[in-house]
Amino acid sequence: MIEETSILVIYTGGTIGMIADKKSGALVPFNFDQINKQIPELSRFNFRLDFHCFDPILDSSNMDPKVWIKLAHIIEYNYEEYDGFVVLHGSDTMAYTASGLSFLLENLNKPVVFTGSQLPLGVLRTDGRENLITAIEIAADKEDDTPVVPEVCIYFENRLMRGNRTTKYNAENFNAFVSGNLPLLADVGIYIKYNKNIILKPNFKKLKVHKKMDTGVAILKLFPGISEEFVNSFFNINGLKAVVLESFGSGNAPSEPWFINAIESACDKGIIILNVTQCLAGAVEHGKYETSIKLQEIGVVSGRDITSEAAITKLMYLFGEGHDKETIIKLLNSSLRGEVSN
Ligand code: ASP
Repeated sequence: MIEETSILVIYTGGTIGMIADKKSGALVPFNFDQINKQIPELSRFNFRLDFHCFDPILDSSNMDPKVWIKLAHIIEYNYEEYDGFVVLHGSDTMAYTASGLSFLLENLNKPVVFTGSQLPLGVLRTDGRENLITAIEIAADKEDDTPVVPEVCIYFENRLMRGNRTTKYNAENFNAFVSGNLPLLADVGIYIKYNKNIILKPNFKKLKVHKKMDTGVAILKLFPGISEEFVNSFFNINGLKAVVLESFGSGNAPSEPWFINAIESACDKGIIILNVTQCLAGAVEHGKYETSIKLQEIGVVSGRDITSEAAITKLMYLFGEGHDKETIIKLLNSSLRGEVSN
């Protein structure tokens, strides 16, 4: 008997699931039970396609780690029954959710493909139809009975990217995401050209789903003119355990004594500071310029080429696991899910 391929599409919310209300013209969510009416082409997939719709559906600005855990739970619950998962999600915070999920789903051996759209499915020129159809095709793709892309990824407008390497960089272009430090997992035109050297290999171990995220972490973006008062009050936030420091260029920060003192006393208090670059590509290189030597000396951890989205969600995950500070620093220095280059 040939086993039928099965894909579960999970709709969390976002523009893709909207249509214009007949009376007011405003965008309203459509009933996902009627997805075949919106995209009749879906019935042409010759495999099982099921839908799970969040209730309530969420604009992705309202996503939070509790919802990521709920999503991880849905995938865990359905893991044996389906060959792959497609997650429909608003594009605004998709890179955070995809990064968070990559950490929560340890030993993932099946595809979890995030997609969404810039124009709603109910609009004639929508990008959602192609995004959804191709995401399903990618989630179902196998070679020698093994999924081609057994990782959390984002498919958007002809590009497949590792989820924890992406950032939303364009609010209106159909190509809304960039993977600045990792080549595409696949380039989609007439053919889906997979970049097999880059795609993570399955390890065939049992899926382990983590269910805790600690939100005692924050991002501090530097800017010329940042004040001493602001920085000091930031580091005095109650319960602050770790900070992603978004620095300039290759990891540079002001060398003024008040700034260095603030960072040093935060490190002394036990706060972990992870240095990432504000640039969309390239890496932190401590010691390349004088303005980063001091940071390294006082114990700031280099995030190398990690994105802010992956950095903050990795910290939430590591603290959620209850590791001590030394272990967290060690794990920040290694790649857990392909989120940082070695
Ligand atoms: N505001 C929407 C969201 O992120 C935009 C989108 O779906 O792309 O939920």
